Amino acid sequence: MKLHDSGLFKQLAYINGEWVSASETLPVHNPATGKVIAHIPMLGASEVRTAIKAAESAFKSWRAKTAAERSTLLRKWYRLILDNQEDLAVLMTAEQGKQLTESRGEVGYGASFIEWYAEEAKRAYGDLIPAAKSSQRIMVTREPVGVVAAITPWNFPNAMIARKVAPALAAGCTIVIKPSELTPLSAFAMAELAQRAGIPAGVINIVTGDAREVGAELTGSSIVRKLSFTGSTAVGKLLMKQCADSVKKVSLELGGNAPFIVFDDADIEQAVQGAIASKYRNSGQTCICMNRLFVQDGIYDEFIQKFSEAVAKLTLGPGLDGEFNQGPLINEAALNKTKDFVEDALAKKGRLLTGGRAHSLGGLFYEPTVLADASMEMKCYQDEIFGPVAPVFRFHYEEDVINMANDTRYGLAAYFYANDLSRVFRVAEALEYGMVAVNEGVLSTEVAPFGGVKESGIGREGSKYGLDEYLEMKYVLLGGINAP
Ligand code: NAP
Repeated sequence: MKLHDSGLFKQLAYINGEWVSASETLPVHNPATGKVIAHIPMLGASEVRTAIKAAESAFKSWRAKTAAERSTLLRKWYRLILDNQEDLAVLMTAEQGKQLTESRGEVGYGASFIEWYAEEAKRAYGDLIPAAKSSQRIMVTREPVGVVAAITPWNFPNAMIARKVAPALAAGCTIVIKPSELTPLSAFAMAELAQRAGIPAGVINIVTGDAREVGAELTGSSIVRKLSFTGSTAVGKLLMKQCADSVKKVSLELGGNAPFIVFDDADIEQAVQGAIASKYRNSGQTCICMNRLFVQDGIYDEFIQKFSEAVAKLTLGPGLDGEFNQGPLINEAALNKTKDFVEDALAKKGRLLTGGRAHSLGGLFYEPTVLADASMEMKCYQDEIFGPVAPVFRFHYEEDVINMANDTRYGLAAYFYANDLSRVFRVAEALEYGMVAVNEGVLSTEVAPFGGVKESGIGREGSKYGLDEYLEMKYVLLGGINAP
């Protein structure tokens, strides 16, 4: 791992503007090689409490800054992140395994939220509501929620943090972040750049340690007024329960089971490209990855042939060694889970078109896989695969595919390819998902609201709506006004 600026390689937690160690540490591995690349502190409950206290005392002066002052600091941070994009990408590839092109893209994507909310900070407007009495005025203002806790996953080590910190800081909140123990280096490097940007001590804190212990402290604290979590639905539900005692505001970005529907009238070449982008990005480890590919009868054979031929050409390798299409999976558990989905599908009469086994590179590399003739009995119909496996289901009627697409407890992202205008509106409106992409395989952007319905979560990140997650409304009644 060669960095232009070695100061970005931190192995310490960040509390109240200080870099903090612990007697116990945990190794961080490069999933492409299995080698240990860092050791991070295992903080205990008392250090987490110190971080919460630091965020509480920093909150008073941070919220008192004008929106323009907060905006200037966020913008400085944004510039520093882009100035160090290459180093941040190298760190990310080393700890997460995704290809450098994808890591660079993620750093840019994460930064775009910081730039966006540097602007939105100035737009936390209120209202003046016509009152029932002439002697009264009704004023509504929006105030920062207070201290925020953020718990983030390993699949987007930079962007999942940026998507939370940027709106929180813009709104005037301070934050304590617990990144995944698998990918903490990107988080520490972001904190280093925040410090260089002049973001005051205590405004951003990063803690690492046992997830349950840290999570219990963050959710149990009455100082923390909001939890923003991205991760699995199971852990999201648990944390939501833990937040109930102190009635915290919660935002949850959870798992998905994205349908990707290709209708007979679709442009097949475009649909193949879209399906590849949606499925195999980050080795299939994104919450919005296509999970079930539904293809209509009339084009089924042509589509699966073109799709599997294109997938068979995808290259694999360690992201720090060259340019490939796909890297390793994150760990042994992810590899075993992927194998299990494929074995289950094959046992239930799935037809293997390409892939279907661990890659000859060994370690955590798994071949990009396409399985035709998938059925509703397979595990992949209901559960999130989170690996490079595309099961293809055949359908005949539009109504049937809508029912199958919605037949899940999840509701994050859905995709479909069609050209008939009436169908486009019909299907987009019928899909029970927080996000729907039509004739596109990638939909994330800072300008649009990202989030799910059903068990995929609560709340939205990005866009003008994302700021509301970190604001509370206050109604002020002004009486005794002597005006005609
Ligand atoms: P995860 O196991 O739920 O972990 C997410 C975070 O929660 C990590 O920081 C983890 O810590 C922590 N955690 C785990 N158990 C905890 C507990 N009992 N108390 C407090 N914190 C706890 O999920 P993951 O495997 O990292 O991420 C994959 C999941 O995230 C997938 O389901 C994916 O769909 C979802 N995801 C959703 C979105 C979205 O925007 N909707 C975006 C990305 C990912 P450690 O890692 O340190 O154990």
